[in-house]
Amino acid sequence: MSNIHPSSHPLVAHKLTKLRDRTTEPKKFRELVREIAGLLTYEATADLLVQPRLVETPLAQHNGVELKEKVGLVPILRAGLGMVEGVWELMPSAEVWHIGLYRDERTLKPVEYYNKLPVEPTVSVCLILDPMLATGGSAVATVNVLKQWGVKKIKFVGIIGAPEGIANMEANHPEVPIHLAAIDERLNEHGYILPGLGDAGDRQFGTG
Ligand code: URA
Repeated sequence: MSNIHPSSHPLVAHKLTKLRDRTTEPKKFRELVREIAGLLTYEATADLLVQPRLVETPLAQHNGVELKEKVGLVPILRAGLGMVEGVWELMPSAEVWHIGLYRDERTLKPVEYYNKLPVEPTVSVCLILDPMLATGGSAVATVNVLKQWGVKKIKFVGIIGAPEGIANMEANHPEVPIHLAAIDERLNEHGYILPGLGDAGDRQFGTG
């Protein structure tokens, strides 16, 4: 479990419980997704490289730093979209790249329907954003696309992971760190995480 990072932060646990609550309305749900995404990204970006930057304070010069690496966000549509704002609050200049995958309800396998990545990678680090790491099919497929694109450093930032999805990622992309608010018990027969929070897309967009 060395590359799996479930958060142990009390704020994350507190907000996640509210997120799971079936009575939480879409407006509050979106707010919580945004906040948890920011907190997890803070943890996930602890190893970003920095370079020296000299600044003048009102009183003196100071040898400070600035981020060296260019970060790209890859939200898995549609539920991952709600996490982007939370990450942008920390890194407003992060680029957002869209890869459209949907889960075939019968096979539970991801199908790619949209991909507008430029030929060469424009970022050195990519954070894949998806609240639910369920079967892991979409996450594995997205990492495949990003590796083909030539991205060297890829991380997955989710909210809840199922053991099945984590095992799938570990089997296919063991070097990709996985940052989560919690690891739940299992998937049900429809591919939903138990106890989970239901359908993260429906609950954000009010379509349930
Ligand atoms: N996607 C969701 O939105 N919820 C789950 O529990 C699993 C996949």
